Amino acid sequence: MTNIALSAMLGATPPLGYESLYFDKSSRELRGGVSKYIGWRTPDKIPSSYMDELDYQEPLAFEFLVYVAPERVWRTDMQRFRERFRAAPQTRDYFAFLKGTDGLLHIRGPERLAVALESLDKILREIQTSCGWETEIVLFSDHGMNLRENQRIHLKTHLRSRGFALGSSFSETSRDTVAIPAFGLCGYAAIYCGDGEALADVANSLVELEGVDFSIYRDGTRAIAVTGANGVGRVERKQTNGETSYRYLTSDGDPLQLQPILETLKQTGKLDEEGFASDQDWLETTANHIYPDPLANLYTSLHTQRVRHTADVLVSLRDGYYYGWSPFARLTRLAATHGNALRPSSNAFLMSTHRTLPPFVRADDAQPLLRG
Ligand SMILES: [Zn+2]
Repeated sequence: MTNIALSAMLGATPPLGYESLYFDKSSRELRGGVSKYIGWRTPDKIPSSYMDELDYQEPLAFEFLVYVAPERVWRTDMQRFRERFRAAPQTRDYFAFLKGTDGLLHIRGPERLAVALESLDKILREIQTSCGWETEIVLFSDHGMNLRENQRIHLKTHLRSRGFALGSSFSETSRDTVAIPAFGLCGYAAIYCGDGEALADVANSLVELEGVDFSIYRDGTRAIAVTGANGVGRVERKQTNGETSYRYLTSDGDPLQLQPILETLKQTGKLDEEGFASDQDWLETTANHIYPDPLANLYTSLHTQRVRHTADVLVSLRDGYYYGWSPFARLTRLAATHGNALRPSSNAFLMSTHRTLPPFVRADDAQPLLRG
């Protein structure tokens, strides 16, 4: 999650997959996993070029240890940041990534996070005092969180009952085989299909699984299909004279709950004769929707390189549900998570001590705002 968000926000290279366990589409097998968390952060363990820009980030092992000892990890993380910052030259920007707060909120919930944020506030005030009030502090997150007790969805069991086989690699004969990397405990699942014709079948099979909100898959070169319990829809994109516009079509129900917005766009004359509205109009009318900026967000998740090995089917879960690696799930109770297309997960924050920032900005357009 973090690597996808930060590579978009900082204009860096996309990571290989959604998490460190990923499916390699050229070798048609699962790769990576826990081994990526052991030892030093050697080049093969650097998922995206944004990490080259960081002056501080936690040691690699913390990413895993945070699930076992979140309190120890966030305190050590913040102290290390404080010491490193004090030792750094004060003549240039300093870019630190404090990751312990993510694990802390997942496992201990918002009350414990508040304690960590107060501690961070103290450190930042100390920095402000020692560096002078002209020093701008910019604070931002890579994603949000839903603050719900979460339960695991029975994704593999369900797909097996629908006649699919679950595998970690595909051969020529594995037409009904799907691979679903299970790692961090997040509100989405990325499915890879042995048979390129099976995408719609997989998405349809998931409609009635408890915890699934909707699934998306590529439908031709300029569209995605959206299938969920709330209906079936399609998002299409067109480019005219360098301008991007989107159209939302439904054949049943309203899976993205956009009918009222569609009506507003129509009444305000923002729809062209084919029913497309400009990318900017969609962004402005849906920035605060329960699925923020859903057309561009979902379309680009499948048609651009958010990761090198894009999933065939992406599943967005309802708040209160996650998919992930079961040993992690046994280790911990999950007090909060993120990763679905809903507002609590999709919205991040961005604040500055010196500048008034716009009310919303896409991750892809955030870079100029992040570094002053
Ligand atoms: Zn997280």
